Amino acid sequence: MRQSRFIWAVTTAALLFSLVLNVDFAIARETGPGPSPGPFRPATAWELTGRTIVVDPGHGGTDPGAVGSRGTLEKDVALAISKKLAYFFQQGGAKVVLTRDRDRDLGSPENPTKVEDLQKRVQIVHEAKADLLISVHLNHFSDRSEYGAQAFYQRGSAEGKKLAERIQPQLNAFLIDSGRRALAGDFYLCRNAKIPVVIVEVGFLSHPEEERKLREDVYQTKAAWAIYRGVIDYLRG
Ligand SMILES: [Zn+2]
Repeated sequence: MRQSRFIWAVTTAALLFSLVLNVDFAIARETGPGPSPGPFRPATAWELTGRTIVVDPGHGGTDPGAVGSRGTLEKDVALAISKKLAYFFQQGGAKVVLTRDRDRDLGSPENPTKVEDLQKRVQIVHEAKADLLISVHLNHFSDRSEYGAQAFYQRGSAEGKKLAERIQPQLNAFLIDSGRRALAGDFYLCRNAKIPVVIVEVGFLSHPEEERKLREDVYQTKAAWAIYRGVIDYLRG
């Protein structure tokens, strides 16, 4: 029994190690020289053991969110990134709850409303007794030259601010660097979740080039990885 457990542990560690290397190499290839990766530390060292994290892909179902000029829907990209993020968190040892894992909203089937949808998301956070909430969205603005990912937190939340300020540099490092900073705001989800929450606007669907990037699987993976790294930095203090 002990021996089989040992073999299982070694096999799992080897698999995860090779996964991390693959991800790191994929990111390194894509970003070129880019920022220094720093001392190697396996991301899958179970740093998140005992943590429960809710990952919230924005919108869904009847609510597409923002729509890009190529027809890219915010709800689809948010879901794709959220699933990748959930995977990274799981590999780090966390218990992960997705507020949705397919194209649906969380309102009532007959007559879904936005408020109801958001209330359900908050309810999921409370039921999960989550430690953190990451909500994934994409931005849209009338000025099509605006670009870049940005982390938002609830004004007055010291922990939310700290978490956002750990995530933002990772977004700037791994995605198109807009030099943006974490920004405070007032959001239903952040106000009501009662735990550290960050809403990540991964990029602008209104910016043609950024929309093209946001559709790419590798760019979505980098976005998830950047958020994951930011959360790890936050939890390490
Ligand atoms: Zn949104």
